[in-house]
Amino acid sequence: MNKPASVPGHFDAVVVGAGFSGLYMLYRLRQLGLSVKVFDSADDVGGTWYWNRYPGARCDIPTTDYTYSFDPELEKEWTWSEKYATQPEILEYLRFVADRHGLRSDIEFSTAVTSARWDEPEQRWRITTDRGKEIRCRYYIMATGCLSMPKSPDIEGAGRFAGQVYFTSRWPHEGADFTGQRVAVIGTGSSGIQSIPLIARQARQLTVFQRTANFSIPAHNGPAPADRLEQLDVGRDAYRHAARWSRGGVPLEPTDVLGVTASESVRRERFEAAWEQGELFGILNVFADQGVNPASNDIVAEMIREKIRSAVKDPETAEALCPKDHYFGTKRPCLDTGYFETYNLPHVRLVDLRKQPIVSITEDGIETADESFGFDAIVYATGFDAMTGALVAADVAGQDGLSLKEKWAAGPSTYLGLMTAGFPNFFMLTGPGSPSVLSNMTVSIEQHVDWVARCLEDMCEEGLETIEPTALAEAGWDQHVQDCGAITLYPTANSWYMGANVPGKPRVFLPYIGGVDAYRQACDEVASQDYLGFRMTGPGGDRCRDGVVRSMQPDVAMVLEFVAALGLPPMETLSAADARALMAATAEGRPPGPELGEVTDGVIPGPAGDLPYRLYRPGGPSGRPRPLVVYFHGGGWVLGNLDSDDPLCRDLCARSGAVVMSVNYRHAPEVRFPAAALDAFAAVQWADANATELGGIPGQLAVAGWSAGANVAAVACQLARDAAGPRISGQLLICPVVDSDMTRPSYEENGDGYILTTALMRWFWDHYADPADRGEPRAAPLRGDLEGLPPACIVAADFDPLRDEGVAYARALEAAGVPVRLARARGHTHTSVTMVDVVISGAPVRAGIGEALRDFFPSAELQEQVS
Ligand code: NAP
Repeated sequence: MNKPASVPGHFDAVVVGAGFSGLYMLYRLRQLGLSVKVFDSADDVGGTWYWNRYPGARCDIPTTDYTYSFDPELEKEWTWSEKYATQPEILEYLRFVADRHGLRSDIEFSTAVTSARWDEPEQRWRITTDRGKEIRCRYYIMATGCLSMPKSPDIEGAGRFAGQVYFTSRWPHEGADFTGQRVAVIGTGSSGIQSIPLIARQARQLTVFQRTANFSIPAHNGPAPADRLEQLDVGRDAYRHAARWSRGGVPLEPTDVLGVTASESVRRERFEAAWEQGELFGILNVFADQGVNPASNDIVAEMIREKIRSAVKDPETAEALCPKDHYFGTKRPCLDTGYFETYNLPHVRLVDLRKQPIVSITEDGIETADESFGFDAIVYATGFDAMTGALVAADVAGQDGLSLKEKWAAGPSTYLGLMTAGFPNFFMLTGPGSPSVLSNMTVSIEQHVDWVARCLEDMCEEGLETIEPTALAEAGWDQHVQDCGAITLYPTANSWYMGANVPGKPRVFLPYIGGVDAYRQACDEVASQDYLGFRMTGPGGDRCRDGVVRSMQPDVAMVLEFVAALGLPPMETLSAADARALMAATAEGRPPGPELGEVTDGVIPGPAGDLPYRLYRPGGPSGRPRPLVVYFHGGGWVLGNLDSDDPLCRDLCARSGAVVMSVNYRHAPEVRFPAAALDAFAAVQWADANATELGGIPGQLAVAGWSAGANVAAVACQLARDAAGPRISGQLLICPVVDSDMTRPSYEENGDGYILTTALMRWFWDHYADPADRGEPRAAPLRGDLEGLPPACIVAADFDPLRDEGVAYARALEAAGVPVRLARARGHTHTSVTMVDVVISGAPVRAGIGEALRDFFPSAELQEQVS
């Protein structure tokens, strides 16, 4: 039973919403012995399942998983009747939970919170309700759901219609009877797709107004899947644990089959299996790369379109129902029961609003650009102001009176999707920046509630009373949320995930797509690191361990995990020959990089024998001369060759529009310092002298390199300056080795765990140069004379031991009057920027590099060729 308020109207916590999250939050707060009041504008529990009573409303996560797990007895006492339970059954379940735990006594129904103000001197929230009550509380928790604020109809004349008007999101409790009626449904998202087949059963005429065709797969509803019931019977705890540590909140082995490389039969087999299974996470897991690679995504999308074409008899209608304007999954896919087949009924018609947009709703129907329709009823299935709508509408004002709406005017900003700076003790359950809508909601809700409850418990134990994220931690999380989205295809769609369905809403990727497991891990780490990124105050003192919980690019982190799992021996423990073999083996099967106009191999004379080179020409008119970039591969002067950096060279060529000439040089330990540097300089001289034959433009020459290749490129620039030629237009140094001093902080911070380690760097130096030579500018160009060198673009990666020497070189060049562009590869390692088509987040960095290369040659022609 709840602790009563010690002072009337004063509670420890106020919760808004009595759906899945609000009910469980109340339960947990009570366990902590706090006094709690829950408000809900509905007259019963249920949240989304209270309001969305339209015909056909069901969950789209199997109900065996769409259920609370906190109460094992409850799990035994409740049995779901179907694979996907109906709205009435889910509502009944929530009522059952509320009664079982006696939760109703702390819930004030039919009461909406109208405003919440943070009272700084009191360190309390002041809450007012539409019943004129004012309440004080220490903690204010919004459990208002992600899809609870219906989007108001943004259609001309919407208020004018004289017939019956229905909203799927606010369906009348007594239901609707469409028998004998002419009915319009506007909207073909999940709500429309679920309700249309059932409305068609009653209506005399049904006209569906579709703006965007949507992907939907058959739910194959029926009894709960036997395999899942068995798993639950055998080991319920293990099953729930697996759900909590899965990507989406439902146990599922993520596939490693790539759509682009799988055979046709494997593709078909995997797709058909997922189609038969009828589960969202299954169809989103046909291929590992379907969420990030357009070509792979299109394989799944086209197979779904085939299914639509075979289900719908009229070819024109079928084609209109085939989604073509967004990648599969980037708008929430739907599960249906007989949706597409409904269009075969003689009284059902699809109107494609892309061809004939709605001009206006009229008194008796709908007018499109081409036709006038008369209706008895209009059903709006037009969706929600998702994820932020209910939060900003609630008139929440934090410190200094700043409202949430004002703070989020350009898009939401949160720490972990749970809190936002400037709003102390204000928690959001499943807020923007959390996995929420991309996951099984019940699993995410339990995680959030448990985290908040544990946080309050920890605070209480320490005598702390207020908590708020720091600006740094919040900005870091916002960036991480966007980074995770940016490597996927999701931001390309005009979806409600992007806020694109609400006119004027800022376009921001709202949910966290890194996965339920990764999110849980981040939240746990924050808590275990003294609530990293939160400021806490109270009689127990003030404390703040400021910081950012995730700053590595998510795909870089995945690569590191993958490499760690391979359990490879550290390179520095191998012989040079074995290290070279290992490097070649790990490069096998990687994506080849972009197609180019022409790639040819050849040799040039070096100071001590021939040096192999590979020439990359971009597509476009052959024979047209272009600027020339002489490139040197990485590998610590010991490893690497023309093949090792082939995808990167292709990428540099495609992005810059220049001819790229990759030159191999002599390697250590067979031939030591300064052979590599001398070879590089000789190659630059030869390229300059033979520019025309190479397809270059005489006098338009740049050098480039990665890692040790950038070292010899930088040295070649100094040698060319000293020798008064050749003239070099620019130097591109990607994560360069420019000094032999290994004491800079980045060696300390990044010396272990990010592929290039301090130990490996030492091994490289030992192979390449005697200690006495390592201070020489031809080994450590940072120590040379830097005046008069060509303009530079230097890439420095956050998680690279060489980061600080790259930055130091940029600063030193600038001080010497050399124009420098320093490109910080945020969240990258020494190697990740170069991993073309593997590390997607490296693409924008390489786009910047391509631009820098073009800027070395300010000829309008090159700029034009690339654009
Ligand atoms: P929705 O997915 O946003 O779909 C709204 C539909 O209305 C879209 O087809 C949209 O077209 C159309 N629309 C909106 N404004 C329009 C206008 N002015 N003119 C013409 N068409 C317009 O909304 P929803 O179907 O209510 O679903 C929202 C989310 O709730 C789902 O994605 C899902 O996450 C959840 N949901 C789940 C279930 C379930 O099975 N458990 C059921 C219902 C909802 P555009 O696409 O062109 O904007």
